Amino acid sequence: MDPLMGRSRAPLCRLREAPKARFANPEERAIYYSRMPIPFDNTYARLPERFFAQQLPAPVPDPKLIKVNTSLAKQLGIDPEWLASPEGVAMLSGNSLPAGAEPIAQAYAGNQFANFVPQLGDGRAILIGEVLDNDGVRRDIQLKGSGRTAFSRGGDGKAALGPVLREYIVSEAMATLGVPTTRALAAVSTGETVQRETPLAGGVFARVASSHIRVGTFQYFAAREDVDGLRALADFAIARHHPEAAIAHNPYLEFLRSVIAAQAKLIPQWLHLGFIHGVMNTDNVAISGETIDYGPCAFMDNFHPQCVFSSIDRKARYAWGNQPSICQWNLTRLAETLLPLIADTREGAIPLAETALAEFPDQFESRYLAGFRAKLGLDHDVAEDGGAAFLKTTVNVLAEQEVDFTLFFRHLTRVAAGENPTEFTSLFKDPERAYDWLTDWQAIAEPESQFDAMRAANPILIPRNHRVEEAIQNGYRGDFAPFHRLVDALANPFSENSEFADLETAPKPEERVTETFCGS
Ligand code: AMP
Ligand code: MG
Repeated sequence: MDPLMGRSRAPLCRLREAPKARFANPEERAIYYSRMPIPFDNTYARLPERFFAQQLPAPVPDPKLIKVNTSLAKQLGIDPEWLASPEGVAMLSGNSLPAGAEPIAQAYAGNQFANFVPQLGDGRAILIGEVLDNDGVRRDIQLKGSGRTAFSRGGDGKAALGPVLREYIVSEAMATLGVPTTRALAAVSTGETVQRETPLAGGVFARVASSHIRVGTFQYFAAREDVDGLRALADFAIARHHPEAAIAHNPYLEFLRSVIAAQAKLIPQWLHLGFIHGVMNTDNVAISGETIDYGPCAFMDNFHPQCVFSSIDRKARYAWGNQPSICQWNLTRLAETLLPLIADTREGAIPLAETALAEFPDQFESRYLAGFRAKLGLDHDVAEDGGAAFLKTTVNVLAEQEVDFTLFFRHLTRVAAGENPTEFTSLFKDPERAYDWLTDWQAIAEPESQFDAMRAANPILIPRNHRVEEAIQNGYRGDFAPFHRLVDALANPFSENSEFADLETAPKPEERVTETFCGS
């Protein structure tokens, strides 16, 4: 049976079963109300019970709205005014649930910095339901930071305000920059203090994703040798994300190939923007090909291929330049889980999976190169190697000269428009090296014919780490103006807007943030 065909049952005003066992503390019971302002149509909750744990969000003392994403709410068929109303804010904070919500914490496993953990799961997130958006795309609505679940292990299930604001800013920026990503529906503060290294104000983030199925979700069932569970999950994921695979000769192999293709499309986009995910664990790799889980992520200022921001990534496993090979490593973990579905025997399945995985490097490489050609204003037949050698030299010069990655392409676009190159050359430690590089570039670039492509590939604004940090620190002081301003500015990252000129600039030495933290 196609799991997506089964429409949700009549709107539920109570959980399906066994609330006594699961909600030992009656004060943790959220209030359901009978109106259905969110057109839920849940399917994951129809999967076998071992896929998730039913879990109500924990109530919070004093919820306050920070921001609602009006256009995304409309896209989901939710009235943004309702979402910003006391009833909506009660839902966003986990204090109440509208009819049709079926809150669950999803089970998954994952390799964390290469170490396999057979059970992770939503330890601080609750999927409250799914909706079909205006384009007919099924989307999850999840509350992140809404209390403990069956998967919380030692954690408190809560989120501090900082990570809530960071995920809001960065995921929405990724969306406007054209990168597949989960989205931000809303951010609220809870009036609660969460204990991290220091006590911090708490928040809840409402996340929207085309699903929350991860490589780690497949690993969860594979680790238990639960082939029926794997097949049910794969069938669900195929129907939801890669329906073309269903009619292929070998649907599960085709599914693997589709996920590989989606990741081979995504990772070059990160690299083109100088984005470093920070925690590319298999539980943070979405089958949909969306960027997911913005923890210690950052956009580079000065370029270096080994740049890493996360304080927990001590060996720089997830550095900018390692992301393609780590992605392939993660996809290999996915392929391993699918072996029992791909062929009757392991021996039969392995060569098929290996052939699929071998497609990744070429797919990645051609997109990586094409994107940088656009950024550099090169034609596709620039040279026999498609510009690969020139790109390699460029990357080396950027690293050696400690050039700001975003400003390099931003000012090169201005040079291409005929402007004076002094701003461009001043980005280099040694401006002579800049003039040498420009001479080489001018010999092969097609700035006139490629100008539109350059502009479309080189953003003026990215969420600079020090600006995100500034928004967060002000947020902790109760001033959300810098947060709102940053989100507003990043809504149009390719447009020149003098009002936001200060957000373009690189950090001064004292403003530079070298680490972002996973703490949430
Ligand atoms: P992450 O590193 O954010 O991808 O999270 C890894 C795992 O730790 C996931 O299973 C999370 O649900 C869990 N986790 C992270 N923070 C918390 C928290 N504050 N409380 C409970 N579980 C958490
Ligand atoms: Mg995660």
